[in-house]
Amino acid sequence: SQSEEKMIEYLDELEFLAYTAGGQVLKRFTQKLEKPNPKTFIGTGKMEDVAAYVEQHEVGTVIFDDELTPAQQKNIERLLRCKIVDRTYLILDIFAQRAQTSYARTQVELAQYEYLLPRLVGLWTHLERQRGGIGMRGPGETEIETDRRIVRDRISLLKKKILTIDKQMATQRGNRGALVRVALVGYTNVGKSTLMNTLSKSEVFAENKLFATLDTTVRKVVIGNLPFLLSDTVGFIRKLPTQLVDSFKSTLDEVREADLLLHVVDISHPQFEDHIASVNQILDEIKSADKPVLMVFNKIDAYQPEAYDEEDLMIERTMAHYSLDEWKQTWMARTNGDSIFISALNKDNFETFRKKVYERVREIHVTRFPYNS
Ligand code: GDP
Repeated sequence: SQSEEKMIEYLDELEFLAYTAGGQVLKRFTQKLEKPNPKTFIGTGKMEDVAAYVEQHEVGTVIFDDELTPAQQKNIERLLRCKIVDRTYLILDIFAQRAQTSYARTQVELAQYEYLLPRLVGLWTHLERQRGGIGMRGPGETEIETDRRIVRDRISLLKKKILTIDKQMATQRGNRGALVRVALVGYTNVGKSTLMNTLSKSEVFAENKLFATLDTTVRKVVIGNLPFLLSDTVGFIRKLPTQLVDSFKSTLDEVREADLLLHVVDISHPQFEDHIASVNQILDEIKSADKPVLMVFNKIDAYQPEAYDEEDLMIERTMAHYSLDEWKQTWMARTNGDSIFISALNKDNFETFRKKVYERVREIHVTRFPYNS
């Protein structure tokens, strides 16, 4: 069914995240529940299956594709007796590994502490119980309180540090003058860095892993004598931890202050429509949903229309069964004609793309410098 297909694709993504974090996935478990079990997220029977597998294969870590409540995490840890990682933790971990500048590191650290704070409660009581032993009393409430105070102090310190850098960055942005600002946005791994490289002929790190880009890169690009600023920012992802959205506020300011967004989509990805929705949702959260957008459908070289299914011929044809040309037409109509289909890798249709960006930037430029045009 469709929901099963979705579940598989969500787990594909989770596996890719795990791989990006340096892990190797041994087995996947899925379960259909009306809503997550409030105590253990998954049901009792499924938990027994997982526990048996963990024990048999000496699994070190079990990852859940959602954010677990502190209580759930504690309960599951007790049942499975291995490291329990949820989606938020995994994403934070990848961000921590990839943060290059001190600003990005500070932002990630803040997000990590905010994630940790509500989880400090009873963390030690649980360890104590696992160790067992008479007279082995873990740290009491006072020590937990001390830990929480240390974390809270750290959080307010990091917030102050970020505030200072935010001010500096705002000044820097202010100093860039009236140049038109274009921001690349899109789901993670869609080809934003590759596009940035091709447009600005620079060498931005591009690789087939999630979140290769953490910090914002801003480059001056000139097309046909028209200069503008192009920024590449952190990739968006489904269920991006809210702590990250908050702490990357300033990075996302680049998007918020842009005059034009290039929303890059990987059309070779089976979930690309979900990706568009996730990106739009985050744009909405950072109050940038009503900005002018050019939809850039990338990776047309890798696009594979699904084969016709005999049975499907009886039903209405779904998007997946369109040929690339038919499919382009439907999306051009949907996005008011403001879309382009390219391959950043092979440079297919790249000149048309550059021309389109030029036209859009020029429209804005003309309103800003009416006498020079
Ligand atoms: P970002 O995370 O959005 O910045 O994506 P990257 O620019 O790092 O690209 C992610 C992966 O997609 C890399 O392995 C790129 O080589 C690959 N890629 C980018 N553009 C294309 C394209 O047009 N076609 C194909 N097949 N792969 C592409």
